[in-house]
This record gives sequence, structure tokens and C-alpha cells, in this order.
Amino acid sequence: MPVMARVLELEAIAEKVEAGRRLTEAEGERLFDRDVDLHAVGRLAQAVRRRRHGDVAYYNINAHLNPTNVCVYRCPLCAYSCDPGDARAYVMALDAILACADEAASSGCTELHIVGGVHPEQPYEWYVEMIRSIHQAYPRLHLKAWTAVEIAWFARLAERTVEGVLGEMIEAGLGSLPGGGAEIFDAAVRRQIAPRKPDAETWLDVHRTAHRLGLRSNATMLYGHVERPRHRIDHLVRLRRLQDETGGFQAFVPLSFHPHGTGLSHLRPASGLDDLRVVAISRLMLDNFDHIKAYWVSLGVGTAQIAVAYGADDLDGTVRQERIHHDAGSSAPDMLTVDQLERLIREAGCRPVERDTLYRPVRRQGAEWEVAGS
Ligand code: SF4
Repeated sequence: MPVMARVLELEAIAEKVEAGRRLTEAEGERLFDRDVDLHAVGRLAQAVRRRRHGDVAYYNINAHLNPTNVCVYRCPLCAYSCDPGDARAYVMALDAILACADEAASSGCTELHIVGGVHPEQPYEWYVEMIRSIHQAYPRLHLKAWTAVEIAWFARLAERTVEGVLGEMIEAGLGSLPGGGAEIFDAAVRRQIAPRKPDAETWLDVHRTAHRLGLRSNATMLYGHVERPRHRIDHLVRLRRLQDETGGFQAFVPLSFHPHGTGLSHLRPASGLDDLRVVAISRLMLDNFDHIKAYWVSLGVGTAQIAVAYGADDLDGTVRQERIHHDAGSSAPDMLTVDQLERLIREAGCRPVERDTLYRPVRRQGAEWEVAGS
């Protein structure tokens, strides 16, 4: 395309963004072209982010719990899972799970993020009892638990509908869904990175049902492996469509693929520049999502901090004991303190605000906290 036509095309995209009009798939894909200046895309995304959130950037105080690493699906993309009987295999006992929840609650966490493998032998009741026991012991801890892949497995295991499983989990104390397992929706890409995992429609249906039952959820996208820009845009547009339908998503979380230790270890990871472009384009395409998260465990602390100036408004949390990305070679630390998170946000030119899982501001004195206005 001649230079002048390219300039006019990008000006037209910028005008649409400034007027708050929705970008098309073709426009989104165009922004992934390397000849489109990354910093110009970042500036546009940052303007959208500032319109929504001003100078606020969020973080939360949370902990992760990965109850088992045994998984029937053994996706090529995964460095975390293993077969039963593997020397690395573990299944946490309920006592250990409660000890982890106790540590989270007593150190002032507002949220416990629970996801893991899909174990071939653990009964459905184990998963429900886990939620019920934690919720009964620590009712203030918001339980953001289970990917759509896990929920679909529970339905199969219990021979119940997704609605039935979600209803029982809600009754036991489930607070929201974290949004993992989406990977890339395109079927051909999915066949290469996660061939046995439930398909895109299953993932979208679980979230649709969760939203109908009043649960909020997040949505993820794993990029930086074999996908192309058109697959990323297709993924974002499918999420945007479901959000138009339900309004139940809170945040979008782009996850940068770490090939180390996976069945795709020959691939080169995404560069920091690619990470920033994905964050910025996500902000521009997902005009009906309130929040774009720069998940520092996946992006690395430095890139996540810069992402706050490229359209992201949330650095996620303090994150204790995360295993899934660390097993795949993430060089991010195991946790960040509140002081570190707040400093990262301030250095990025924003004002740090602690939030709970539902993005309500939290007022805090040490480990004591309350949701502002409640
Ligand atoms: Fe199992 Fe999830 Fe790993 Fe796939 S990515 S093997 S579903 S834990």
C-alpha cells in the first residue's frame, strides 16, 4: 500500500477511536502490521484507558492455589501438568488447601484464585467440598475459581449440566470465574496447542451460563505461539460479541506464552514489543470491557509496568504461590508486595488503587480491610 494511503488509513482508525466508535476486524488486524508505529497504537489505547479510568491503575491483594497438577488433557502448551504417577504429580489434601487459604486470609488477601489440572480420578465432590470448606472457614475471601475447561469437566464427571454445576458451586461459595482455558479460539490453532481441550464454543457457553446465573468472569487469550494476528483478532471479536450479549466480563487478560518445558519449546516467545502491541490492541478492540489487565506473572514485571501506559489499567495482584506460569519458565518473582505494586504504578504515571475482585475500591489498615462504601 502506498505511504499516503497507509497514513490516511491510520488517521481514519484514530478518528474512530477518538469518536468512541467500534473498530472492525480488518482495522484491528491492520494494527498488528509491523509498519504501524507501536507507540502510536499505544497512545490511542492510552487515550481510551484514560477516558475510562483517568489516572487510576488497579491492583489487588490475592493468593493463588493450584490444587493438583495432574491433568487428563496434557496440552502441548502446558509445562505445569503431568500424568498420575509422575514424580512431579501432586494432589493437595484438604488440610493443606485450608492452610493455604488461612495464610491468604490472615495476610489480608481479599481473593483466592483457584485453578489447576483436570484430574482423572478426583471425584466431583472433592472440588465442591474444597470451595465449601474454604468459604465456610474464610467467608470474606472471594473465591475466583475454575476455568471453563474445569467446569466443563465437572459437568461430565457429575453427569450434570454446566448450569447445575455452576449453581452448586455458587451455593458452596464460588464468587467468580478467572477466565483461563480460552487460549486461542480458532479451531486449527487450538488443535496444535491444546488438541484435547474443550473447544471455543464450550468455553464461551460456560461463561454465557455463568453470566446468566449472575457470576462475573474474566477472559484470557494465550498468544505468542503458532497463532497469527487474524487469530488474535478473531478471539477478541468473539469475546466482544459475548460481552455485547451478557455484559458479564470484567477484565480481559492477555497471557504471553512461555515455551520453556512445554511441547512447543522450539518456539520463540513473544517479544516485549509484541506484548505491548497485544495489550494496546486489546484495549482498542474490546470497547465493551471495563478492564485490561497487565498480568505481571505472564508479561514480566518490566513489561507489565510499561503496559500500564499502553492501555492496561490493572496490574493484577500480589500473587503468592503461582505455579502454572512459573513452571513454564516465567522469570517473574513469586510475589510482589503492595509497596512494589504501588511503586510500579506510580512510576508509570498513575495512581494506585487497591480493588477487590469485583473492582470495588478497598480501604485497608494492615491485614484489616473493608470495601469502600459498603
Ligand atoms: Fe490441563 Fe490446563 Fe495444562 Fe491443558 S493447560 S494440560 S487443561 S492444566
